[in-house]
Amino acid sequence: MKQEPFIIGDVEVAAGSRVTVDLPAADLYIHTGMNLTAHVIHGRRPGPRLFVSAALHGDEINGVEIVRRLLKRKVLASLKGTLVAIPVVNSLGFIHQSRYLPDRRDLNRVFPGSSNGSLAARLAHLFMEEIAARCPHGIDLHSGSNHRSNMPHIRAAIDDEQTRRLASAFGAPVVVNAKILDGSLREAVSERGIPVLLYEAGEALRFDELSIRTGMRGILAVMRTIGMLPQKERKGGSSVFYSPTSKWVRAPISGIVGSRVRTGAVVGKGDLLCMVSDPYGEVEEEVRAPLSGVVLGRLELPLVYRGDAMFHIAVLEGDVEGAELIEALATELSQDDYRQPSP
Ligand SMILES: [Zn+2]
Repeated sequence: MKQEPFIIGDVEVAAGSRVTVDLPAADLYIHTGMNLTAHVIHGRRPGPRLFVSAALHGDEINGVEIVRRLLKRKVLASLKGTLVAIPVVNSLGFIHQSRYLPDRRDLNRVFPGSSNGSLAARLAHLFMEEIAARCPHGIDLHSGSNHRSNMPHIRAAIDDEQTRRLASAFGAPVVVNAKILDGSLREAVSERGIPVLLYEAGEALRFDELSIRTGMRGILAVMRTIGMLPQKERKGGSSVFYSPTSKWVRAPISGIVGSRVRTGAVVGKGDLLCMVSDPYGEVEEEVRAPLSGVVLGRLELPLVYRGDAMFHIAVLEGDVEGAELIEALATELSQDDYRQPSP
């Protein structure tokens, strides 16, 4: 059975075709416009509809690369349902290599937006009306901001069984039960009953190969789980750990940061995370883990003021003593076919 055409903006996408659609988002002051551009793959046969969005924060570019590689996958030829991919939601931020829109607004704090609000509010509104309203599943891709890097993880409301199932299927090593931020896409979409997975990986303005591969593999795995792609036999796969809570460790003094534990390292309460010292080595202070868990994120910039957030530690459910989550994942990913296509 062939499915009905997919309508987005004033474009009708026929079953079994793929189209890049420009949705006019705003007029700029140079007599040109800004679009929200979506790539729609509308399968021949009916099935679930999923959006994948990236660069709501314009400097978080790992997701852009994840989508670019995803759209090249041959398996999408057998897609059931509809994939709507928006690799660059905040295109002005992306051009300026900035998290924000030109008015310094954070797009991920103005959802659901409004049709007559600020540039950010109107872009959010357009996304809600044209994308979220048409797709009952969503994956939003992010990276660490402000010199912070994250190990690949999913942030989602895992009390919801459906969300938990998809979060686990994604296959990132850690799933954090994260509270929803006011004004975020995840909040606006969740209120419409759409389970959204937020994937956090890597650092702003950098490509991180492990983050990109984990993200692309995760999206394909979710698509298989909800029936958009044919099921694949599972080859073992590394474990997914749930984290009920996480905590930031802050700098005890202002100073220069010595060698630090890596993201993905499993630490015990009291373990040394790094030293902070003055440039003369006269004042030195240890930073120790206040709880046991995995280093989910860390500050890459080795210069801190007292109170700066330095390490993000996630408490893990289950026994992870001595495990190297990132190494297990890296080993697994280098063995499969999720490599960067050769030039
Ligand atoms: Zn972000």
